[in-house]
Amino acid sequence: MPAASALDLDTIRQDFPILDQTVDGKPLVYLDSAASSQKPRQVIEAISRYYLRDHANVHRGVHELARRATEAYENSRERVARWVNAADAHEIVWTRGTSEALNLVAFSIGQARVRKGDEIVISEMEHHSNLVPWQLLAARTGARLRYVGLTDDGHIDLDHLEGLLGSRTKVVSFPHVSNALGTINPVTDIGTLIRDRSNAVYILDGAQAAPHLPVDVQAIGCDFYAFSGHKMCGPTGMGVLWGRKELLDEMPPYQGGGEMIERVSRQSSTWAEVPHKFEAGTPNIAGAVGMAAAVDYLDSVGLDAIHEHEMALTRTAMRLLANVDGLRILGPASAEERAGVIPFVIDGTSAQDVATILDAQGIAVRAGHHCAQLVVDRYGLSATTRASFYLYNSNEEVHRLAEGIGTARELLLS
Ligand code: PLP
Repeated sequence: MPAASALDLDTIRQDFPILDQTVDGKPLVYLDSAASSQKPRQVIEAISRYYLRDHANVHRGVHELARRATEAYENSRERVARWVNAADAHEIVWTRGTSEALNLVAFSIGQARVRKGDEIVISEMEHHSNLVPWQLLAARTGARLRYVGLTDDGHIDLDHLEGLLGSRTKVVSFPHVSNALGTINPVTDIGTLIRDRSNAVYILDGAQAAPHLPVDVQAIGCDFYAFSGHKMCGPTGMGVLWGRKELLDEMPPYQGGGEMIERVSRQSSTWAEVPHKFEAGTPNIAGAVGMAAAVDYLDSVGLDAIHEHEMALTRTAMRLLANVDGLRILGPASAEERAGVIPFVIDGTSAQDVATILDAQGIAVRAGHHCAQLVVDRYGLSATTRASFYLYNSNEEVHRLAEGIGTARELLLS
């Protein structure tokens, strides 16, 4: 079977020992990376090395290990800043993940900028992490939450967006890539539209984009960009909020505690400089070390090559699945407009049953609403089965998926 692209898959797969196992006697096919990616040895070893040699609390000590831990923690911030082309490493706030990053920005920008009668614009494509924090803000402030609709082929309806933008719009927040449709949104053009029509702050949920596409936050022209380590070969419990420095400076803290203050008195406190203002308490130091190792790893393969590889896998999957009777893939019809995410339904079957039968064949996929309930509602469904690809997946695995789906269909409809 031909390789899907020019990536050196044999070498890459050796970096991920977890993939080399059987499930019920069948070779594991891991197609659930949109939920969480696997970790290469290089990341696991960097975290292990840190704990074996360098661990202490950061910023507080004068001793050698405290110095080493602080250096590792802050160097990782600089590494991630360079990776997304931030203007300054101080624009990188470490968080627990995309969810916390979006909650942080909704809470703090909300306090700084959003008042009763203002409007917050999101889309029907949101993961709940980019929806519920805005509902909470709207309920707290009396602002109005407005939704941009989706087209039948899984795009944000840009005409609708244009009509919604105006002087009341204070925040616009969208996904860069949809976890439930696979759509890659035209985020730079959307940024231009937002700036032309409003003074809104533009936020991107990059959870499904940063692991798969080169991201340049300055070129995109957004104000905030959030992503998670565990979806990009890094550790769980670690994420990033990138924000423009002047906006981060303007925002009040999100949580209080050690390290985020400049001075404390009985009734009030003043705040540390950005980003420390947003990092209360002992942070996930090993997580930061793992993030830098993940970024090094992805860079060593190349984000452009990863994207090409996933597009080739997506093309193969779409071609093979087009032959399955009654199967419908949600999202854009062209592989060029989507990331390596294939959400599908088969007439007369339940998404959960399809996933269960695939599991019995060693194929790991996910079924449900994928924390994007408005998406399945929009397309008149209650759930989809979702296969998602990453740099370590092969063309052969996509063929196994198609065969497995054929088997599931036969078993469920016979
Ligand atoms: N946004 C999108 C588009 C996602 O796919 C996810 C996770 O699936 C999240 C946000 C939340 O990420 P996390 O659970 O790492 O906070």
